[in-house]
Amino acid sequence: MRDRTDHMRYLPSQEVISHEIMDRILGERSNTDFTKFSSDDVLRAIGKENRNIDDFKALLSPAAAPFLEEMAQASKAIKERYFGKNIYLFTPLYIANHCDNHCVYCGFNVHNSIKRAQLDEDAIIKELENIAKSGLQELLILTGESQSKTPVSYIGRACELAKKYFNVVGVEIYPLNSDEYAFLHKCRVDYVTVFQETYNPVKYEKIHLEGNKRIFPYRLNAQERALKGGMRGVAFAALLGIDEWRSDALCTGLHAYLLQAKYPAAEISLSVPRLRPIINNAKINPKDVGERELLQVIMAYRMFLPFANITLSTRENAHFRDNAIRLGVTKVSAGVSVGIGEHGGKNQGDKGDGQFEISDSRDVVAMRASIKNAGLVPVMSDYIYV
Ligand code: SF4
Repeated sequence: MRDRTDHMRYLPSQEVISHEIMDRILGERSNTDFTKFSSDDVLRAIGKENRNIDDFKALLSPAAAPFLEEMAQASKAIKERYFGKNIYLFTPLYIANHCDNHCVYCGFNVHNSIKRAQLDEDAIIKELENIAKSGLQELLILTGESQSKTPVSYIGRACELAKKYFNVVGVEIYPLNSDEYAFLHKCRVDYVTVFQETYNPVKYEKIHLEGNKRIFPYRLNAQERALKGGMRGVAFAALLGIDEWRSDALCTGLHAYLLQAKYPAAEISLSVPRLRPIINNAKINPKDVGERELLQVIMAYRMFLPFANITLSTRENAHFRDNAIRLGVTKVSAGVSVGIGEHGGKNQGDKGDGQFEISDSRDVVAMRASIKNAGLVPVMSDYIYV
């Protein structure tokens, strides 16, 4: 077998920061036995006003499975206390799909034969204009992870352009050093999303075969470097279904919790993606993470981190999303296209393939109507810049 880079050792260009949060997460991961929690532990956790780490573990444990209805009632009440009836809307904009990494579960991986594309400034502006017509005020800009094809300067320029059309702009790109995050902050980026995929270092090594993404600690500490670079918000996720989902959900929640404790002003968000089929590999699926398990994760997050936004993407179907926004989710995407340059219509020009298949293709009008039907209030943005 070919020698591969040591996934726990930083590359020379990668900034090293304190490991205290990573060490704590990995320690909790190793020391947690979810089978030791009882129904009493779960009921105690549900009944509490403020929940500790052990309560969070109980809510993720197998013992919580019979109590999803009780969790739903508690979760719904917490959501309404902290967010009222608001459900925030955004859409992702993929501006390139080049990637130098080999993640075995992703359609953008460097060895997957797909149509690659990258939008130039004019094409980005066209996409921004098309999306802005929907009335959305929040945009998440994404690329594959290729620092050579999509350097930070290119992404920064795209964000500056986006800010002319949108009130809130986030990025979901390759992890950066804190000075590069500071540059993006100057380009008026509001928040940074980085999916750790799995917090199991052994599994991580097996599925991230090539590229900078292979370096586990550099990815895990990305949110902290983003906050050091001045970002207002950071978002976290494990890709559920890659490894044991309870452990990955525990680590994701802990990661957000510990970083919030260290940086109290940070705005924290969590996403709950499950594996999806990709181009050239329709067999990829989220294995043992069914909809009940996914709901359990959403509600455990809500009860442990009441202040955090929870985002649910169009990887999930409309019925599930309509249910989840009542119970714990506070932010949803709409009018989604995961292809490159498709917001003007699929048949316009030379476009790039998408990262994965989506399940909910509702546009912004339909999504707003569904939110209202659920007795909730669609919100485009509630940020005011002074
Ligand atoms: S998951 Fe991200 S880094 Fe990995 S292949 Fe896909 S786009 Fe590239």
